[in-house]
Amino acid sequence: MSLIVFDLEWNIGYQPKTFLYHGAEQTLRGEIIQIGAVKVDETGRVLDTFSMDLKPRIFRKLQHHIAKVTGFTQKQMDAGVPIKEGLARFVKWCGPDARFGEWGMDDVPVLKQNLYLVGLDESWPAVWYDLQQIFLAQHPRGEGEGMTLESVITRLNIPTDRPFHDALSDALYTVDVCQRLDLKKGLEEYPDEESQLRSAACPPGPEYKKVECFFGYLEKETWREDPVLHDLRCPWCGGVMEAEVSPKATPEEEDKELWMRRGNNSYYGLCHCADCKKDAIIRFKLSRRDGLHWAVARVAEVPTEESRARWQKQKKLLAERLKKKSQTKAE
Ligand SMILES: [Zn+2]
Repeated sequence: MSLIVFDLEWNIGYQPKTFLYHGAEQTLRGEIIQIGAVKVDETGRVLDTFSMDLKPRIFRKLQHHIAKVTGFTQKQMDAGVPIKEGLARFVKWCGPDARFGEWGMDDVPVLKQNLYLVGLDESWPAVWYDLQQIFLAQHPRGEGEGMTLESVITRLNIPTDRPFHDALSDALYTVDVCQRLDLKKGLEEYPDEESQLRSAACPPGPEYKKVECFFGYLEKETWREDPVLHDLRCPWCGGVMEAEVSPKATPEEEDKELWMRRGNNSYYGLCHCADCKKDAIIRFKLSRRDGLHWAVARVAEVPTEESRARWQKQKKLLAERLKKKSQTKAE
């Protein structure tokens, strides 16, 4: 079975661009201006390569920072294959059952957004791997070691005679790294989307009683309203749990402020069980792996003295903030 190791360069706008994805507003992460891809077998042996410059339709002016990093010129971008045609050719080259490998997790979401915007099937590709994670699993990160492709290439003493931030060249460097891995094992052991979400939602430390995953939300904020997500059950006895209501300033803020933010895309609250009288910290961790759909993990965590204190402190700070806000509003 083959793997397509690929890399994209994309242009961004001077103003953010939003678009509607089945009615949900999304921010375009970037418009692809270059695709580099290498078909490899499970040992990392190169079978074929693909390289193409694309001419964007939306971000037509080359952003200066992108020009600096990639060495791209406006002239080169203008001379590219029109994006729709180029993407269609790439899709055909890859084949319908293609599995993708990329360094990091940024390229597939950008690819999917761009496929959607030119009217191609964005549900493809369905299977992709973050090769950085496979690398990390086999070469645990040392103190102070960078994880960019360039720093890993340097660390592995791979000759750097090609440029960086050229799509095909970066894809080939990624293949160089793959050849130094047990790629077959890495792909076989790679966690599926749910396992990834679970581990992101449960960092080591607290004791977790229950983790459940929900997929396919189009809008990030839907998690606040979805009755399924808010049917909170006690992880000990199954009874109904009530979230401790935070102090609120205005009725509009009621839903918004019930859950406190913790870390990146994570919200939590202390909840009480009316039946067994136990408390749990219920936390929602959001992730958007494909760039188009949100997934939510709902975690029930056993509160500790420390986490209770943190909750109380955050609640107090929030009360003060809301009070100030309502005073400003009144004035
Ligand atoms: Zn209970």
